[in-house]
Amino acid sequence: DAILELEDISFNYNNEKQILKNVSFKVNKGDMFSILGKNGAGKSTISKLICGFYKPTSGKIIFKGKDISKETIKERSEKIGYVMQNPNQMISKTMIFDEVALGLKIRGFNEAEIKERVYKVLKICGLYGYRNWPISALSFGQKKRVTIASILVLNPEIIILDEPTAGQDFKHYSEIMEFLKELNKEGVTIVMITHDMHLMLEYTNNVVVLSDGKKICDDTAINVLTNKEVIEKANLKETSLYE
Ligand code: ADP
Ligand code: MG
Ligand code: MG
Repeated sequence: DAILELEDISFNYNNEKQILKNVSFKVNKGDMFSILGKNGAGKSTISKLICGFYKPTSGKIIFKGKDISKETIKERSEKIGYVMQNPNQMISKTMIFDEVALGLKIRGFNEAEIKERVYKVLKICGLYGYRNWPISALSFGQKKRVTIASILVLNPEIIILDEPTAGQDFKHYSEIMEFLKELNKEGVTIVMITHDMHLMLEYTNNVVVLSDGKKICDDTAINVLTNKEVIEKANLKETSLYE
């Protein structure tokens, strides 16, 4: 069953260069899915189109069978959780509790409900003990988990994470990936954006490979990794774990 479908998406930021070229793919409910490609392939652009930050020049974005291409960022954020690459771009409050509670406050939940849901998510994210800490006291990896918590608290069925492990040491890398795996087991569909083939093999089942704004492959992780032609074409040979 598809939860998210891209149908023939094309896009350019200005009129000079076409960034995405007729990209189509399907994410099934329960997937641990990767969008793989080297820097500049168009991965982040795709995630921003899905979430409504930009409008495609052609094509459709379909969520559970419904075309959401005309919906606002806010409307889409009720359906699709989006974790940006840089946690600092997402954080607006000083304290951890307040940051994670923000989305619920905006949506008019009462204080008791907010407390219950925020505590639950902070426990899941291993941040409960820090709930009254300032975010500035946290490590990069912990901040990342705060941004994931602030998305999870809204109970999305699907979460898109842009380079969730970029710039992290091995400890946080494993922590975050194992955590996403657990969430996936709980039924949350995960879409990861990455240039890291190792991460993809270990943690995802289905993959689309982007190269220069075009989809060049759509397959299982193991088939992608063993497809020399695709890896070469996508210029992925030089990628390593922590770049
Ligand atoms: P990736 O996430 O795969 O590294 P991006 O989606 O960030 O790729 O970028 C794809 C292409 O779009 C690149 O050529 C990049 O320079 C260009 N690009 C990204 N953001 C903008 C923008 N705001 N304005 C113009 N061009 C952009
Ligand atoms: Mg990039
Ligand atoms: Mg990117």
